[in-house]
Amino acid sequence: MTTKYQLYVDNEWHDPLSGEWFNTEDPFTGEPWAQIPRANAADVDRAVHSAQAALEGSWGKMSATDRGSLLHRLAVLIDENAGTLAEVESRDNGKLLSEVSGQVRYVAKYFYYYAGLADKIQGAVIPIEKPGVFNYAKYEPIGVVASITPWNSSLLLTAWKMAPALCGGNTFIAKPSEFTSASMFELARIVAKADLPPGVFNVLTGFGSEVGEPLVRHEGVGRIAFTGGDQGGRAVARLAGENLKRISLELGGKSPNIVFDDADLDQAVNGVITGIFSAGGQTCMAGSRLLLQESIHDTFVQKLVEITSRAKAGNPRTPGIQIGPVATKPQFEKVMSYIAIAKGEGARCIAGGRALSGPEYGAGRIVEPTIFVDVENNMRIAQEEVFGPVLAVIKFKDEEDAIRIGNDTRFGLAAGVWTKSLKRAMHMSDKLKAGTVWINNYRSTSFATPFGGFKDSGIGREGGIEAVKEYLETKSVWISTDLQMPDPFIRKY
Ligand code: NAD
Repeated sequence: MTTKYQLYVDNEWHDPLSGEWFNTEDPFTGEPWAQIPRANAADVDRAVHSAQAALEGSWGKMSATDRGSLLHRLAVLIDENAGTLAEVESRDNGKLLSEVSGQVRYVAKYFYYYAGLADKIQGAVIPIEKPGVFNYAKYEPIGVVASITPWNSSLLLTAWKMAPALCGGNTFIAKPSEFTSASMFELARIVAKADLPPGVFNVLTGFGSEVGEPLVRHEGVGRIAFTGGDQGGRAVARLAGENLKRISLELGGKSPNIVFDDADLDQAVNGVITGIFSAGGQTCMAGSRLLLQESIHDTFVQKLVEITSRAKAGNPRTPGIQIGPVATKPQFEKVMSYIAIAKGEGARCIAGGRALSGPEYGAGRIVEPTIFVDVENNMRIAQEEVFGPVLAVIKFKDEEDAIRIGNDTRFGLAAGVWTKSLKRAMHMSDKLKAGTVWINNYRSTSFATPFGGFKDSGIGREGGIEAVKEYLETKSVWISTDLQMPDPFIRKY
C-alpha cells in the first residue's frame, strides 16, 4: 500500500485539479512508496488567490510580534516531529537517516532564529536638508513568495526561504522537486497544527513545466526563490525577466578545496572527505575539486584512499551506514556517465568508480566514493558539476597557481583552504571568487550567516538578518510638517 498525498492550500487538503498523481520511489529499494499529486496551472491559480487573501486578512494585519510567536510555535512543532520529517525525507531522497535527522533539527533552528527577528526589522529616519519635511524608510512584505527547490535537501532548502519570507510578513507557496515532495506534506501537517491563518503556507507538487513555470508566470506571485540546477535556474530567470519578478537563484558549484603543504594534513583529509562524500556528494557546496600542492600530493592521496575505502555502504536507514544511494535514477546515470567521461579524458581512477550490486545494496544505485587523480582543470570532470561522490584531484605549484586554478570555473559557490599561515589564509580568502570561503574547515553553515554564489552559482543570499530584506520592499515616505509648496512655474532649483 502506498501513501496517497493531497495538495495543501488554504489550510485544507485538496485533490489536484488534474485528477492525477504520480509515484515517488525509495532510492534504496527502487520501489514506489507514495503517490504525489500532479498539480497544474489551475492549482497554482487557486493557491495564489488563497495566499493573496491571507495578505489582506488576519496575517496581513497581524503585529510582527504575533507573527514571530507563530513562527516560534512552528519551530517547536518541527522539533517535536523531527523524527517523522527525517524518516520521510530519507525515504524519498535516500540520504543517511542520521544526516537528515541533523538537517531537520537545523530546520527548526531556522524558524527559531527568524521568529526572534520578526519584530526587530526596523526602518530608518533619514536626515533631510529641507526644513518642514520628514522622511522615513520602512519595509513592507513583497507579497506572495513561491519557492522552487531541488531533490537533495527538500526541507532545509525550503526552510531557508520560508522562514525569512514569513518573518517579513509574506505568504508562501512551496513547490518541492517532483522526486522528493513527500516531506513537504509532512511539514504542512505540522503547519496545520501551528495555527497559521489559511493561505499563509501552501504546498503544490508536480513538474517544473506544469507547476514551476506557472508560478513564475503568475502575476499574483511577487517573488520567486529558486534553488536548483543551472538550466532550470536560467529558464526561471528568463521567465521572471519578462514580468520583472523579484528572484533569487541558488545554483550549482564546482568548489575547490585547496590544501597547502603547511596544513595539518590529518585535519585536511577529514575536511576533504566531508566536503565531497557527505550526502554522497549531492550537495551544491560539495568540494568536488581537490587542489593539492605538488609536494604533498602523493602522501595526501594515499591517506584519502585509505580512509575512503573504510566507508560502509548500504541502506541509508541502517545505523552505521556511511554511503547511501544516489537520490534518483537519472542522477545515478549522470554520475556513472561522468565517471566514464573522466576515464575517457585520461584521468586516473584510484578509488571507487563502480556501482555496488548485491542484496545489501538495494536497487544497485550506490556509487562507491570515487577519486580521480591526474586531472587537468580544463577537463569536463573538473569543470562540470557531477553532483555525486566523485572527487577530481588537481596539482598546483604555489599560492598564485592555486588561486588561478581555483577561480578557473564558471561557478563561485564555495571554496576551502587548508594552511597554518594566517597571512596565506587571508590572502586566499580575498582572492577566491566564491560566496563562502572556509579556512581549515569545510561545510560549516549557519542560519545566521549569508550563503549564496558568485558568478554562475546564483543571485542573492540566504541566511542571516539580511535574508529577510530579500523578501521586503523598501518604501520611502515624505511627510510635510511645514513645507510650503511653491508655485510650480516659478520653482527654482
Ligand atoms: P532542477 O533545476 O532540475 O530542479 C529544481 C526545481 O526546479 C524542481 O522543483 C523542478 O521541478 C523545478 N524546475 C525545473 N525546471 C523548471 C522551469 N523551467 N521552471 C520552473 N521550475 C522548474 O535541479 P535538480 O536536478 O532538482 O537539483 C540539482 C541542482 O540543484 C544541482 O545543480 C545543485 O547544484 C543545485 N543545488 C543548489 C543549491 C544551492 O544552494 N546553491 C542547493 C542544492 C542544490
